[in-house]
Amino acid sequence: MDEFALIRRFFDRPVKDDSVRLGIGDDGAVIVPDPGRELISVVDTIVAGVHYPLDLPPFDVGYRAVAINLSDVAAMGGRPRWMTLALSIPQADTGWLSLFAEGLFTAAAEAKVSLVGGDTTRSETTVVSVQMLGDIDPHDVIKRSGAGPGDSIFVTGTPGDAAAGLSLLKSGSDQTGESEYLIGRFVRPRVRLAFASSITRLASAAIDLSDGLYADLQKLLMASKAGAKLELAQLPFSAEILAKFDYDAVINFALAGGDDYELCFTVPRSKDAEIHAVAKQNQVQVTRIGRVVSGDGIECTKDGVPFEYADTGYRHF
Ligand code: ADP
Ligand code: MG
Repeated sequence: MDEFALIRRFFDRPVKDDSVRLGIGDDGAVIVPDPGRELISVVDTIVAGVHYPLDLPPFDVGYRAVAINLSDVAAMGGRPRWMTLALSIPQADTGWLSLFAEGLFTAAAEAKVSLVGGDTTRSETTVVSVQMLGDIDPHDVIKRSGAGPGDSIFVTGTPGDAAAGLSLLKSGSDQTGESEYLIGRFVRPRVRLAFASSITRLASAAIDLSDGLYADLQKLLMASKAGAKLELAQLPFSAEILAKFDYDAVINFALAGGDDYELCFTVPRSKDAEIHAVAKQNQVQVTRIGRVVSGDGIECTKDGVPFEYADTGYRHF
């Protein structure tokens, strides 16, 4: 199968979106943004054996490649709209491609995102790069840099689950399927799109959790030129992770684990109640885990007692 047959067979699906003037098949896509809205551009690449285990099912590879980009658009408060796919694969394995495309289009359909183009090349390792465009009312953009001293720090969901799931996947210890929930948190990140777009006027800053809560919060704080006090006893953990791992491991998965694609965000203290109300409407678990302070760095306590934490969050190099 040549490159063009491959694209036609697996990726060139009819686009039901008036904003796509021209999709796959020409030198470039032509899209029509809504008047008054600005564009958000993100890209994320996953490499087989580096960002996911080599034997991860192809559906999940496709799903994840889209979900991690949705998460970046969500963290800006935006609405994902269009994406392109740069796919590098060792061979045109039709079984793999068809499941990969199913996963990719499933995640895209859930967020109403259209695939408008891409690039297909051969390489020794599978490399999947999705570029996504979202749009947003310019007043709604949530940056990393807006947090100020006194703001509350919140997190959605139960961080650590994805890293715990990945460790179970890698160790192959889940023969009975009892860790399905934790593994599912790695394989199919649930992106907080609706919730994020409902807090754009409340949040002072936000970041999505890809490299671990500690490292990602640190990035937000550096952008905001502030520090934080975190109370580790407030960290929300799932029943599943607590049943499977001891407390130190759980703390480490949450702070250093990564891959959660939950949101960490800050709000002025006076807005805490509104955040809880919006979370309830969206049926999203949110937890206040600390506060922003002047200065820099993250000071952790556990039940009020200083807790030394040596960060081992994900680093690419
Ligand atoms: P060009 O050589 O002009 O870059 P290509 O021949 O690589 O174009 O691609 C032909 C068309 O197919 C383009 O519209 C491109 O966007 C699209 N395309 C290529 N690879 C993919 C892919 N993996 N997924 C979706 N669309 C793709
Ligand atoms: Mg090309």
